[in-house]
Amino acid sequence: MRRQALDANHARFEPSRCFGDNLRNPARIATLTQTTPFARALLDWCDQHGRKHLPWQQNATPYRVWVSEIMLQQTQVDTVIPYFERFMACFPDVATLADASLDEVLRRWAGLGYYARARNLHKAAQRIVAEMGGDLPADPACLESLPGIGRSTAAAILALAFGQRAAILDGNVKRVLARYHGVDGWPGHSAVNRRLWELAEKHTPGERVAAYTQGIMDLGATLCRRSRPDCARCPVSRDCKARRSGEPERWPGKKPRTARPVKHRQLLILRNRRGEILLEKRPAQGVWGGLWSLPEIDPRTDIEEAVETRYQLRLKRWRKEPPIRHPLTHFELSLTPIHAEIDAPSGVKEMANRQTLWYNPQQSPPGGLPAPIAKLLARRQNR
Ligand code: SF4
Repeated sequence: MRRQALDANHARFEPSRCFGDNLRNPARIATLTQTTPFARALLDWCDQHGRKHLPWQQNATPYRVWVSEIMLQQTQVDTVIPYFERFMACFPDVATLADASLDEVLRRWAGLGYYARARNLHKAAQRIVAEMGGDLPADPACLESLPGIGRSTAAAILALAFGQRAAILDGNVKRVLARYHGVDGWPGHSAVNRRLWELAEKHTPGERVAAYTQGIMDLGATLCRRSRPDCARCPVSRDCKARRSGEPERWPGKKPRTARPVKHRQLLILRNRRGEILLEKRPAQGVWGGLWSLPEIDPRTDIEEAVETRYQLRLKRWRKEPPIRHPLTHFELSLTPIHAEIDAPSGVKEMANRQTLWYNPQQSPPGGLPAPIAKLLARRQNR
């Protein structure tokens, strides 16, 4: 896992700030521009061992860095690379992304998960075009005013694309700093998080900030791994408190355990005589917002009655299958597929509203499909 949970967007957009002073705290920063031994060692290591061939490092425009940073939240580099390349081929710049339909954007995102990221990218691109002259602003407050861009993501864009001194604190950086300084406690607690931000600010150098930023991300991803960190090859091992303790995996502190609730859902896989499957578009907000999915049937209702009431369709036959589990961030879904057929070519007064349609599984979907829905449909096709 490469990124912390999606950065929430709390800042308000004030256009005048986007073209002015871009320092969060100039007086403080002036006192912090000395390069610490940690940063020096990291920069030397980065020159020799840092990753330099990732697709978003080539032609590192603010737009490409932004898209890569959003994709890398919650997702590993190897998974992101093909998605990033396909996304760039379809949406090479902010204007193209802003012009595209949300369905098209979600289709290119399908499989990467955490779809709020794609919806926010699309919304932010439209705001950049409408309110910011079409270019990403080189200002932390303005960047943080955009949907889906929080403090760390804004800093990564500023450091990697604009070369500005800005400290990042993603999941990898939290792990490295918590271990190096022996910071106890779970980083989700505000006091621990605050301490890690202070350390991130302290180590971010005044010069070569892009190399340092890439270096600390690389260190966390390649040597200071979650399990079995490779301390023997680490450039900062000499002064690392976690390494000295002999138990580096003790840091960062674990999240207090809470049982994740399970939510039960029934999904209707309704097939017509032409072999098409009924899909519905999910509401924009909530789980799988804006994606195409299978209709949900309330477990307390009679299935035949529910289908007749909702779609004016009579079922020829139906059967349930054992549920599949799908973990989400805050709960787990238990999805029970109901395979059903109607004995008609389409059977409906063709769906007039654009939120419901018959989908031919031989063709590409009308938009993004959530991963478990795509899996259920593929499983049905392969029988
Ligand atoms: S010495 Fe080990 S624990 Fe410390 S930062 Fe390096 S890899 Fe991580």
